[in-house]
Amino acid sequence: MHGMMMDRPLKIIDILKFAEEVHPTQEIISRTLQNSIHTTNYGEIGQRARRMSKALVSMGIKLGDRVATLAWNGYRHFELYFAISGLGAVCHTINPRLSSEQLTYVVNHAEDKIIFLDLTFIPIVEAHLEKFPSTTKYVLMTDKENMPECNIPNVICYEDLIDRADSDYDWPEFPEDTASSLCYTSGTTGNPKGVLYSHRSTVLHALLACVTLSGSFAVGRKILPIVPLFHANAWGIPYSAPLTGTSLVFPGANLDGASVYDLLNQNKVFSAWGVPTVWMGLLDEIKNRGAKPEGLGEMIVGGSAAAKSLIEAFENMDVTVIHAWGMTETSPLGTTGKLTPPYTELPREQQINLKGKQGRKVFMVDLKITDDEGKILPHDGKSVGNLFCRGNTIAGGYFNNEEASKAVIDKDGWFGTGDVATIDEEGFLVLTDRAKDLIKSGGEWISSIDLENMVMAHPDVENCAVIAIPHEKWDERPLLVVVPAEGKKPSKEELIEHLSGHFAKWQMPDDVVYEDTLPLTATGKVSKLTLRQKYEKHILAS
Ligand code: AMP
Repeated sequence: MHGMMMDRPLKIIDILKFAEEVHPTQEIISRTLQNSIHTTNYGEIGQRARRMSKALVSMGIKLGDRVATLAWNGYRHFELYFAISGLGAVCHTINPRLSSEQLTYVVNHAEDKIIFLDLTFIPIVEAHLEKFPSTTKYVLMTDKENMPECNIPNVICYEDLIDRADSDYDWPEFPEDTASSLCYTSGTTGNPKGVLYSHRSTVLHALLACVTLSGSFAVGRKILPIVPLFHANAWGIPYSAPLTGTSLVFPGANLDGASVYDLLNQNKVFSAWGVPTVWMGLLDEIKNRGAKPEGLGEMIVGGSAAAKSLIEAFENMDVTVIHAWGMTETSPLGTTGKLTPPYTELPREQQINLKGKQGRKVFMVDLKITDDEGKILPHDGKSVGNLFCRGNTIAGGYFNNEEASKAVIDKDGWFGTGDVATIDEEGFLVLTDRAKDLIKSGGEWISSIDLENMVMAHPDVENCAVIAIPHEKWDERPLLVVVPAEGKKPSKEELIEHLSGHFAKWQMPDDVVYEDTLPLTATGKVSKLTLRQKYEKHILAS
């Protein structure tokens, strides 16, 4: 027997329409690229998003077309999230830190019809004009006064586009499983893989984030996503904030400790979200100034493991630290470490220990750990296994990439995260390792395999391995271990020169060490674990 309730499609634009009607005066504050502060609100953003959707339709954008952004966190980027998906097109958020090859790949693979870009990224686009589709159009996210001279042909000014359209526009109806946004994530090797979110998955994620992190979202509170809008939808903040009428503060391009401090302090931001690297920068700044930013009450940290010392330092300042785990493929919240009773009754030291774990699952996400044969392991806090997840907000495959899609879903339909973990009886997740051969530096991925393939092409190298070395500021940095060919010893400079042009500067190994042979595992693979243990304390050059 079917229930008799109405069946209305869940749509992202309804979040903005709700905020426009119910929380029109709640503010959206942005630091602009000109370093001034811009203030708007949900009422105005609703009107501007409507006009931008109408402008996009007049440019020929239709349901399913990909429209890209190459931009920092600011109000224009935020309104594009809604203007693009609202008309049924797909908002492809491009990570500007991708290498040239990866950038070329994602724009062509997504077949972006338009790229909206911040002024900062003009040189990147100019350098890729020949490599991007010839039909792609470009819009500079600025106003007439700040339009610069540039070599991008027929470039359009963002504010002109809005000015030309009126707000007499009704967002269309479409099914809730319609694609809404696309975010590429780096693979262990080869090209990035596109995670294609739907309206349904996004609205459900927005709801579950508000429920799970109920302290972060409320009218009268301000939230600052340091996590970029091009990283897994800024962890869902752009949707959960309007849903609850929470004010947003966007940091623009300045993510150093001093700039983040000033923005938090001036706006009395309550909750700020970011990777451990930015918190380390903020902590240094707090030490310099002798006090935490006024009003800061909570920080959400994820993307990499948060060190206990970092958690303790913020907790000592009465900033509640919530450690979260997730992935681009999980929308991204999978677990959070928000402590509830009875854990809040525990002695402080035990609470800090619990906060160092990756937390417990959020509603609608199921977790399992298995051995290498797929056998489910107990949640006893001791059994270490491959972490899988399942749910309405978890990717079921990758955009136009059958091979990668098949590889990542197990026979029972669970998504393989590539993380290795324990789960205890109370559901606390602890990540113990990463099966995927990747290094995470400042929240961004570096593929060890891609680096190794290129190093192996050097005539003086017999064998090599790239491993992750713990790093205080960046969490992890790559170290290149080289077995030179007989009678040769290529220098660090020579090897870096050999890699340059193929990788972004920040993806380059920080140092090179030499070995006569590489340690092997029982199955004959290079034992990176042995190398990681050996070089754990290696002092990197940078
Ligand atoms: P991304 O898709 O770029 O967001 O990366 C997701 C991956 O980042 C996960 O699979 C983990 O390897 C890592 N990660 C995310 N959050 C955490 C965390 N709290 N602790 C440790 N690793 C994390």
